Amino acid sequence: LPVIAIVGRPNVGKSQLVNRILGRREAVVQDTPGVTRDRVSYKGEWLDRRFTLVDTGGWEPDAKGIDASVAAQAEVAIDLCDVVLFVVDAMVGATATDEAVVKLLRKADKPVFLIANKVDDVRQEPEVYGLWNLGLGEPYPVSALHGRGVADLLDEIMKVLPTVSAVAKEEFGGPRKVAILGRPNVGKSSLLNKAAGEERVVVNDLAGTTRDPVDEQIELGGRVWRFVDTAGIRRRVHLQQGADFYASLRTQAALEKAEVAVVLLDVSQPISEQDVRIIELVLESGRALVLAYNKWDLLDDDRRRYLEREIELDLAHVAWAPRVNISARTGRHLEKLVPALETALDSWDTRIPTGKFNAFLTELTQEHPHPVRGGKQPRILFGTQAATRPPTFVLFTTGFLDPGYRRFIQRRLREIYGFEGSPIVVNMRVRE
Ligand code: GDP
Repeated sequence: LPVIAIVGRPNVGKSQLVNRILGRREAVVQDTPGVTRDRVSYKGEWLDRRFTLVDTGGWEPDAKGIDASVAAQAEVAIDLCDVVLFVVDAMVGATATDEAVVKLLRKADKPVFLIANKVDDVRQEPEVYGLWNLGLGEPYPVSALHGRGVADLLDEIMKVLPTVSAVAKEEFGGPRKVAILGRPNVGKSSLLNKAAGEERVVVNDLAGTTRDPVDEQIELGGRVWRFVDTAGIRRRVHLQQGADFYASLRTQAALEKAEVAVVLLDVSQPISEQDVRIIELVLESGRALVLAYNKWDLLDDDRRRYLEREIELDLAHVAWAPRVNISARTGRHLEKLVPALETALDSWDTRIPTGKFNAFLTELTQEHPHPVRGGKQPRILFGTQAATRPPTFVLFTTGFLDPGYRRFIQRRLREIYGFEGSPIVVNMRVRE
Protein backbone atom coordinates (compact mmCIF):
# COMPACT_ATOMS: atom_id res chain seq x y z
CA LEU A 1 0.00 0.00 0.00
CA PRO A 2 1.13 3.57 -0.55
CA VAL A 3 2.38 5.20 2.63
CA ILE A 4 1.39 8.55 4.11
CA ALA A 5 3.48 9.85 7.01
CA ILE A 6 2.55 12.47 9.57
CA VAL A 7 5.36 14.68 10.86
CA GLY A 8 5.43 17.60 13.26
CA ARG A 9 6.44 18.99 16.62
CA PRO A 10 4.94 17.56 19.81
CA ASN A 11 1.46 18.85 20.64
CA VAL A 12 0.55 20.11 17.19
CA GLY A 13 -2.16 17.45 17.03
CA LYS A 14 -0.62 14.62 15.05
CA SER A 15 -2.43 11.82 16.86
CA GLN A 16 -5.67 13.70 16.70
CA LEU A 17 -5.22 13.94 12.95
CA VAL A 18 -4.40 10.25 12.73
CA ASN A 19 -7.65 9.46 14.52
CA ARG A 20 -9.58 11.80 12.32
CA ILE A 21 -8.18 10.32 9.10
CA LEU A 22 -8.87 6.81 10.30
CA GLY A 23 -12.37 7.86 11.31
CA ARG A 24 -11.95 6.91 14.92
CA ARG A 25 -13.19 8.80 17.87
CA GLU A 26 -10.96 7.62 20.66
CA ALA A 27 -7.51 9.08 21.05
CA VAL A 28 -4.57 6.81 20.35
CA VAL A 29 -2.45 8.33 23.03
CA GLN A 30 -2.42 9.77 26.39
CA ASP A 31 -0.53 13.04 26.58
CA THR A 32 2.36 11.73 28.60
CA PRO A 33 5.72 13.04 27.48
CA GLY A 34 8.34 10.39 26.97
CA VAL A 35 5.83 7.67 26.24
CA THR A 36 6.58 5.49 23.29
CA ARG A 37 3.71 4.16 21.28
CA ASP A 38 4.55 0.84 19.81
CA ARG A 39 2.15 0.93 16.99
CA VAL A 40 3.02 3.50 14.37
CA SER A 41 1.31 2.35 11.22
CA TYR A 42 -2.37 1.99 10.54
CA LYS A 43 -4.46 0.93 7.56
CA GLY A 44 -6.64 3.75 6.27
CA GLU A 45 -9.17 4.20 3.50
CA TRP A 46 -10.65 7.16 1.66
CA LEU A 47 -12.90 7.07 -1.40
CA ASP A 48 -12.10 3.39 -1.91
CA ARG A 49 -8.37 4.06 -1.84
CA ARG A 50 -6.41 2.18 0.75
CA PHE A 51 -3.17 3.38 2.26
CA THR A 52 -0.89 2.99 5.24
CA LEU A 53 -0.77 5.89 7.64
CA VAL A 54 2.42 6.25 9.62
CA ASP A 55 2.38 8.31 12.78
CA THR A 56 5.95 9.36 13.42
CA GLY A 57 5.09 11.16 16.63
CA GLY A 58 5.20 8.22 19.01
CA TRP A 59 8.17 9.52 20.87
CA GLU A 60 7.58 12.74 22.73
CA PRO A 61 10.97 14.11 23.67
CA ASP A 62 11.69 16.54 26.44
CA ALA A 63 12.33 20.13 25.44
CA LYS A 64 16.03 19.52 24.78
CA GLY A 65 15.46 16.66 22.39
CA ILE A 66 12.71 18.14 20.29
CA ASP A 67 14.78 19.31 17.35
CA ALA A 68 16.60 16.02 16.97
CA SER A 69 13.46 13.98 17.26
CA VAL A 70 11.44 16.02 14.79
CA ALA A 71 14.36 15.85 12.36
CA ALA A 72 14.49 12.08 12.80
CA GLN A 73 10.76 11.86 12.05
CA ALA A 74 11.19 13.92 8.92
CA GLU A 75 14.08 11.77 7.79
CA VAL A 76 12.10 8.56 8.04
CA ALA A 77 9.14 10.16 6.33
CA ILE A 78 11.19 11.51 3.46
CA ASP A 79 13.07 8.28 2.94
CA LEU A 80 10.33 5.75 3.21
CA CYS A 81 6.93 7.30 2.58
CA ASP A 82 5.09 8.37 -0.54
CA VAL A 83 3.42 11.49 0.83
CA VAL A 84 4.35 13.60 3.86
CA LEU A 85 1.83 15.51 5.97
CA PHE A 86 3.67 18.21 7.86
CA VAL A 87 1.52 19.50 10.72
CA VAL A 88 1.98 22.87 12.38
CA ASP A 89 -0.08 24.55 15.05
CA ALA A 90 -1.82 27.45 13.30
CA MET A 91 -2.41 29.22 16.60
CA VAL A 92 1.32 29.20 17.36
CA GLY A 93 2.63 29.75 13.86
CA ALA A 94 5.89 28.38 12.50
CA THR A 95 8.62 27.96 15.09
CA ALA A 96 12.36 27.62 14.55
CA THR A 97 11.97 23.85 14.78
CA ASP A 98 9.31 23.93 12.10
CA GLU A 99 11.58 25.93 9.86
CA ALA A 100 14.43 23.46 10.28
CA VAL A 101 12.14 20.61 9.26
CA VAL A 102 10.92 22.58 6.28
CA LYS A 103 14.49 22.77 5.02
CA LEU A 104 14.66 18.97 5.04
CA LEU A 105 11.26 18.61 3.44
CA ARG A 106 11.97 21.05 0.64
CA LYS A 107 14.99 19.05 -0.44
CA ALA A 108 12.90 15.90 -0.63
CA ASP A 109 11.47 14.67 -3.83
CA LYS A 110 8.13 13.76 -2.28
CA PRO A 111 4.81 15.56 -2.17
CA VAL A 112 4.44 17.47 1.10
CA PHE A 113 1.19 18.84 2.50
CA LEU A 114 1.48 21.71 4.93
CA ILE A 115 -1.29 21.31 7.45
CA ALA A 116 -2.32 24.17 9.68
CA ASN A 117 -4.06 22.45 12.55
CA LYS A 118 -6.31 23.81 15.30
CA VAL A 119 -8.25 26.08 12.96
CA ASP A 120 -11.49 25.27 14.73
CA ASP A 121 -13.42 28.19 13.35
CA VAL A 122 -13.57 29.85 9.95
CA ARG A 123 -12.77 33.18 11.59
CA GLN A 124 -9.35 31.83 12.49
CA GLU A 125 -8.43 31.08 8.90
CA PRO A 126 -6.49 34.33 8.37
CA GLU A 127 -4.03 32.96 10.94
CA VAL A 128 -2.71 30.52 8.38
CA TYR A 129 -1.69 33.09 5.77
CA GLY A 130 1.64 33.59 7.51
CA LEU A 131 2.49 29.95 6.81
CA TRP A 132 2.83 30.67 3.10
CA ASN A 133 6.24 32.02 4.11
CA LEU A 134 7.49 28.52 4.77
CA GLY A 135 7.70 27.95 1.04
CA LEU A 136 5.83 24.65 1.09
CA GLY A 137 2.94 26.01 -0.91
CA GLU A 138 -0.62 26.40 0.20
CA PRO A 139 -1.36 25.63 3.84
CA TYR A 140 -4.41 23.45 4.48
CA PRO A 141 -6.37 24.78 7.44
CA VAL A 142 -7.93 21.93 9.41
CA SER A 143 -9.31 21.15 12.80
CA ALA A 144 -8.30 17.61 13.62
CA LEU A 145 -10.35 17.92 16.78
CA HIS A 146 -13.63 18.76 15.05
CA GLY A 147 -12.89 17.32 11.64
CA ARG A 148 -13.08 20.63 9.84
CA GLY A 149 -11.25 20.60 6.50
CA VAL A 150 -10.04 17.02 6.81
CA ALA A 151 -12.23 15.63 4.03
CA ASP A 152 -11.00 18.29 1.59
CA LEU A 153 -7.44 17.58 2.60
CA LEU A 154 -7.87 13.84 2.00
CA ASP A 155 -9.38 14.55 -1.43
CA GLU A 156 -6.26 16.49 -2.34
CA ILE A 157 -3.91 13.84 -0.96
CA MET A 158 -5.64 11.17 -3.04
CA LYS A 159 -4.80 13.15 -6.18
CA VAL A 160 -1.07 12.73 -5.65
CA LEU A 161 -0.95 9.42 -3.82
CA PRO A 162 0.51 6.69 -6.05
CA THR A 163 -2.28 4.29 -6.98
CA VAL A 164 -0.28 1.14 -6.48
CA SER A 165 2.30 0.40 -3.91
CA ALA A 166 5.92 0.08 -4.94
CA VAL A 167 5.61 -3.68 -4.44
CA ALA A 168 2.68 -4.10 -6.79
CA LYS A 169 4.19 -1.85 -9.43
CA GLU A 170 7.25 -3.99 -9.83
CA GLU A 171 5.52 -7.28 -9.39
CA PHE A 172 6.72 -8.60 -12.71
CA GLY A 173 10.33 -8.60 -13.72
CA GLY A 174 11.71 -6.00 -11.32
CA PRO A 175 14.28 -6.91 -8.71
CA ARG A 176 12.80 -8.37 -5.57
CA LYS A 177 12.82 -6.17 -2.52
CA VAL A 178 14.66 -7.14 0.62
CA ALA A 179 14.72 -5.40 3.99
CA ILE A 180 17.69 -6.09 6.24
CA LEU A 181 16.43 -5.76 9.79
CA GLY A 182 17.79 -6.21 13.27
CA ARG A 183 18.65 -4.35 16.41
CA PRO A 184 21.54 -1.88 16.50
CA ASN A 185 25.01 -3.45 16.18
CA VAL A 186 23.73 -6.79 15.01
CA GLY A 187 25.72 -6.35 11.80
CA LYS A 188 23.29 -4.89 9.26
CA SER A 189 25.69 -2.44 7.69
CA SER A 190 28.52 -4.98 7.79
CA LEU A 191 26.34 -7.42 5.88
CA LEU A 192 25.34 -4.78 3.40
CA ASN A 193 28.93 -3.71 2.83
CA LYS A 194 30.09 -7.25 2.39
CA ALA A 195 27.31 -7.98 -0.07
CA ALA A 196 27.81 -4.77 -2.02
CA GLY A 197 31.60 -4.90 -1.87
CA GLU A 198 32.39 -8.48 -2.65
CA GLU A 199 29.65 -9.52 -4.93
CA ARG A 200 30.00 -6.21 -6.66
CA VAL A 201 27.71 -4.51 -9.18
CA VAL A 202 25.58 -1.90 -7.65
CA VAL A 203 23.07 -1.37 -10.36
CA ASN A 204 21.59 2.05 -10.32
CA ASP A 205 19.87 2.32 -13.61
CA LEU A 206 17.84 -0.73 -14.29
CA ALA A 207 15.15 -0.34 -16.91
CA GLY A 208 11.64 -0.45 -15.58
CA THR A 209 12.47 0.20 -11.98
CA THR A 210 11.97 3.33 -10.01
CA ARG A 211 15.23 4.78 -8.87
CA ASP A 212 15.21 5.60 -5.27
CA PRO A 213 18.33 6.98 -3.62
CA VAL A 214 17.22 5.35 -0.40
CA ASP A 215 17.58 1.84 -1.80
CA GLU A 216 20.46 -0.03 -3.38
CA GLN A 217 20.40 -2.63 -6.11
CA ILE A 218 23.00 -5.30 -5.66
CA GLU A 219 23.74 -8.37 -7.73
CA LEU A 220 23.95 -11.51 -5.65
CA GLY A 221 23.92 -15.08 -6.85
CA GLY A 222 23.47 -14.01 -10.46
CA ARG A 223 20.41 -11.93 -9.81
CA VAL A 224 19.75 -8.32 -8.94
CA TRP A 225 18.10 -7.59 -5.60
CA ARG A 226 16.81 -4.35 -4.30
CA PHE A 227 17.78 -3.71 -0.70
CA VAL A 228 15.32 -1.21 0.71
CA ASP A 229 16.22 1.60 3.04
CA THR A 230 19.94 1.08 2.89
CA ALA A 231 20.13 4.80 3.63
CA GLY A 232 18.67 4.02 7.04
CA ILE A 233 21.24 1.28 7.61
CA ARG A 234 24.17 3.39 6.51
CA ARG A 235 23.14 6.56 8.22
CA ARG A 236 23.74 6.19 11.91
CA VAL A 237 21.43 8.27 14.03
CA HIS A 238 22.86 9.56 17.23
CA LEU A 239 19.84 10.44 19.26
CA GLN A 240 19.96 10.93 22.96
CA GLN A 241 16.38 9.87 23.35
CA GLY A 242 13.95 7.89 21.32
CA ALA A 243 16.55 6.02 19.27
CA ASP A 244 14.67 2.75 19.71
CA PHE A 245 11.46 4.34 18.64
CA TYR A 246 12.94 5.70 15.40
CA ALA A 247 14.65 2.39 14.71
CA SER A 248 11.30 0.66 15.07
CA LEU A 249 9.65 3.29 12.88
CA ARG A 250 12.22 2.65 10.15
CA THR A 251 11.69 -1.09 10.48
CA GLN A 252 7.96 -0.75 9.99
CA ALA A 253 8.29 1.65 7.09
CA ALA A 254 10.95 -0.49 5.41
CA LEU A 255 8.72 -3.55 5.71
CA GLU A 256 6.01 -1.65 3.90
CA LYS A 257 8.34 -1.42 0.87
CA ALA A 258 9.85 -4.89 1.10
CA GLU A 259 8.72 -8.31 -0.02
CA VAL A 260 11.05 -10.31 2.17
CA ALA A 261 12.86 -9.47 5.41
CA VAL A 262 16.20 -10.79 6.54
CA VAL A 263 16.21 -10.50 10.31
CA LEU A 264 19.73 -10.55 11.71
CA LEU A 265 20.40 -12.01 15.12
CA ASP A 266 23.69 -11.70 16.97
CA VAL A 267 24.74 -15.16 18.13
CA SER A 268 27.26 -13.73 20.58
CA GLN A 269 24.40 -12.21 22.61
CA PRO A 270 21.28 -13.74 24.11
CA ILE A 271 18.19 -13.43 21.94
CA SER A 272 16.48 -10.32 23.25
CA GLU A 273 12.98 -8.98 23.50
CA GLN A 274 13.89 -6.51 20.81
CA ASP A 275 14.81 -9.34 18.42
CA VAL A 276 11.49 -11.03 19.08
CA ARG A 277 9.68 -7.75 18.60
CA ILE A 278 11.29 -7.17 15.21
CA ILE A 279 10.22 -10.64 14.09
CA GLU A 280 6.74 -9.82 15.34
CA LEU A 281 6.69 -6.75 13.09
CA VAL A 282 7.62 -8.89 10.10
CA LEU A 283 4.80 -11.32 10.90
CA GLU A 284 2.35 -8.45 11.23
CA SER A 285 3.44 -7.10 7.88
CA GLY A 286 2.81 -10.43 6.17
CA ARG A 287 6.21 -10.33 4.48
CA ALA A 288 8.38 -13.38 3.84
CA LEU A 289 11.08 -14.04 6.44
CA VAL A 290 14.64 -15.32 6.53
CA LEU A 291 16.57 -15.57 9.80
CA ALA A 292 20.29 -14.87 9.59
CA TYR A 293 22.36 -15.76 12.64
CA ASN A 294 25.31 -13.41 12.42
CA LYS A 295 28.73 -13.24 14.09
CA TRP A 296 29.08 -16.99 13.82
CA ASP A 297 32.85 -16.46 14.05
CA LEU A 298 32.39 -15.48 17.71
CA LEU A 299 30.53 -18.62 18.70
CA ASP A 300 32.07 -21.17 21.06
CA ASP A 301 30.61 -24.53 22.04
CA ASP A 302 29.06 -23.31 25.27
CA ARG A 303 27.30 -20.40 23.76
CA ARG A 304 26.24 -22.59 20.87
CA ARG A 305 24.29 -24.92 23.14
CA TYR A 306 22.57 -21.97 24.79
CA LEU A 307 21.79 -20.50 21.43
CA GLU A 308 20.01 -23.62 20.21
CA ARG A 309 17.97 -23.73 23.39
CA GLU A 310 17.07 -20.04 23.11
CA ILE A 311 15.95 -20.56 19.55
CA GLU A 312 13.72 -23.42 20.62
CA LEU A 313 12.21 -21.35 23.39
CA ASP A 314 11.86 -17.92 21.82
CA LEU A 315 11.66 -18.54 18.11
CA ALA A 316 9.64 -21.74 17.88
CA HIS A 317 6.79 -19.82 16.28
CA VAL A 318 8.98 -18.99 13.28
CA ALA A 319 10.59 -22.38 12.91
CA TRP A 320 9.31 -22.28 9.32
CA ALA A 321 11.70 -19.48 8.38
CA PRO A 322 14.87 -20.51 6.52
CA ARG A 323 17.90 -20.17 8.72
CA VAL A 324 21.41 -19.21 7.65
CA ASN A 325 24.42 -19.07 9.95
CA ILE A 326 26.69 -16.32 8.71
CA SER A 327 29.51 -14.02 9.56
CA ALA A 328 29.26 -10.63 7.96
CA ARG A 329 32.84 -10.01 9.06
CA THR A 330 34.50 -13.06 7.48
CA GLY A 331 31.95 -13.57 4.74
CA ARG A 332 31.15 -17.07 5.97
CA HIS A 333 28.14 -18.65 4.24
CA LEU A 334 26.90 -15.38 2.82
CA GLU A 335 26.21 -17.24 -0.41
CA LYS A 336 23.54 -19.23 1.42
CA LEU A 337 21.48 -16.10 1.82
CA VAL A 338 20.36 -16.11 -1.81
CA PRO A 339 18.77 -19.57 -1.92
CA ALA A 340 17.10 -18.78 1.41
CA LEU A 341 15.62 -15.59 -0.02
CA GLU A 342 14.48 -17.42 -3.13
CA THR A 343 12.81 -20.18 -1.13
CA ALA A 344 11.00 -17.66 1.08
CA LEU A 345 9.78 -15.62 -1.89
CA ASP A 346 8.64 -18.72 -3.79
CA SER A 347 6.55 -19.72 -0.79
CA TRP A 348 5.22 -16.21 -0.48
CA ASP A 349 4.06 -16.36 -4.12
CA THR A 350 2.64 -19.89 -3.97
CA ARG A 351 -0.90 -20.50 -5.09
CA ILE A 352 -2.64 -23.80 -4.42
CA PRO A 353 -5.37 -24.58 -6.93
CA THR A 354 -8.85 -24.69 -5.39
CA GLY A 355 -9.41 -28.34 -6.33
CA LYS A 356 -6.23 -29.45 -4.63
CA PHE A 357 -6.92 -27.34 -1.57
CA ASN A 358 -10.39 -28.84 -1.15
CA ALA A 359 -9.02 -32.34 -1.54
CA PHE A 360 -6.58 -31.44 1.23
CA LEU A 361 -9.45 -30.17 3.43
CA THR A 362 -11.57 -33.26 2.81
CA GLU A 363 -8.77 -35.58 3.77
CA LEU A 364 -7.89 -33.53 6.83
CA THR A 365 -11.45 -33.36 8.14
CA GLN A 366 -12.01 -37.05 7.54
CA GLU A 367 -8.93 -37.97 9.51
CA HIS A 368 -9.39 -35.37 12.22
CA PRO A 369 -12.95 -34.06 12.42
CA HIS A 370 -13.56 -30.87 14.36
CA PRO A 371 -14.52 -31.66 17.98
CA VAL A 372 -18.21 -31.43 18.86
CA ARG A 373 -19.01 -28.24 20.79
CA GLY A 374 -22.30 -27.88 22.64
CA GLY A 375 -23.89 -30.62 20.56
CA LYS A 376 -22.77 -29.00 17.32
CA GLN A 377 -19.93 -29.79 15.01
CA PRO A 378 -18.88 -27.01 12.65
CA ARG A 379 -18.20 -28.28 9.16
CA ILE A 380 -15.95 -26.85 6.50
CA LEU A 381 -18.05 -26.56 3.35
CA PHE A 382 -15.46 -25.26 0.98
CA GLY A 383 -12.13 -23.49 0.93
CA THR A 384 -10.11 -21.44 -1.47
CA GLN A 385 -6.85 -19.52 -1.55
CA ALA A 386 -7.96 -15.93 -1.79
CA ALA A 387 -4.54 -14.33 -2.14
CA THR A 388 -0.81 -14.83 -2.37
CA ARG A 389 1.94 -12.70 -0.82
CA PRO A 390 1.40 -14.12 1.71
CA PRO A 391 -0.77 -17.18 0.95
CA THR A 392 -4.18 -16.41 2.42
CA PHE A 393 -6.89 -19.04 2.65
CA VAL A 394 -10.59 -18.64 3.29
CA LEU A 395 -12.69 -21.42 4.74
CA PHE A 396 -16.48 -21.35 4.42
CA THR A 397 -17.86 -23.09 7.49
CA THR A 398 -21.14 -23.84 9.25
CA GLY A 399 -19.86 -22.51 12.57
CA PHE A 400 -16.81 -21.05 14.28
CA LEU A 401 -13.79 -23.29 14.21
CA ASP A 402 -11.80 -23.58 17.42
CA PRO A 403 -8.58 -21.57 17.37
CA GLY A 404 -6.80 -24.84 18.12
CA TYR A 405 -8.36 -26.47 15.08
CA ARG A 406 -7.37 -23.54 12.88
CA ARG A 407 -3.82 -23.86 14.09
CA PHE A 408 -4.00 -27.54 13.30
CA ILE A 409 -5.04 -26.69 9.73
CA GLN A 410 -2.12 -24.29 9.44
CA ARG A 411 0.29 -26.92 10.71
CA ARG A 412 -1.06 -29.42 8.21
CA LEU A 413 -0.76 -26.93 5.38
CA ARG A 414 2.90 -26.53 6.25
CA GLU A 415 3.43 -30.28 6.55
CA ILE A 416 2.02 -30.86 3.10
CA TYR A 417 3.02 -27.75 1.18
CA GLY A 418 5.96 -26.39 3.17
CA PHE A 419 5.55 -22.65 2.71
CA GLU A 420 9.08 -22.35 4.04
CA GLY A 421 9.80 -18.72 4.76
CA SER A 422 6.29 -17.39 4.37
CA PRO A 423 3.59 -16.63 6.88
CA ILE A 424 0.24 -18.17 5.98
CA VAL A 425 -3.15 -16.79 6.89
CA VAL A 426 -6.32 -18.84 7.38
CA ASN A 427 -9.59 -16.92 7.58
CA MET A 428 -13.13 -18.12 8.13
CA ARG A 429 -16.50 -17.14 6.72
CA VAL A 430 -19.28 -18.57 8.83
CA ARG A 431 -22.58 -19.35 7.11
CA GLU A 432 -25.20 -19.57 9.80
P1 GDP B 1 24.37 -2.48 12.54
O1 GDP B 1 24.15 -1.50 13.61
O2 GDP B 1 23.36 -3.59 12.61
O3 GDP B 1 24.49 -1.92 11.18
O4 GDP B 1 25.76 -3.22 12.91
P2 GDP B 1 27.23 -3.03 12.26
O5 GDP B 1 27.28 -3.68 10.92
O6 GDP B 1 27.66 -1.65 12.37
O7 GDP B 1 28.08 -3.96 13.24
C1 GDP B 1 28.24 -3.64 14.61
C2 GDP B 1 29.56 -4.22 15.09
O8 GDP B 1 29.58 -5.64 14.99
C3 GDP B 1 30.75 -3.74 14.29
O9 GDP B 1 31.82 -3.52 15.17
C4 GDP B 1 31.04 -4.90 13.35
O10 GDP B 1 32.40 -4.94 12.96
C5 GDP B 1 30.67 -6.09 14.20
N1 GDP B 1 30.26 -7.23 13.39
C6 GDP B 1 29.33 -7.27 12.42
N2 GDP B 1 29.22 -8.51 11.89
C7 GDP B 1 30.11 -9.29 12.55
C8 GDP B 1 30.48 -10.67 12.46
O11 GDP B 1 29.97 -11.47 11.67
N3 GDP B 1 31.43 -11.11 13.33
C9 GDP B 1 32.03 -10.27 14.21
N4 GDP B 1 32.96 -10.78 15.00
N5 GDP B 1 31.71 -8.98 14.32
C10 GDP B 1 30.77 -8.47 13.50
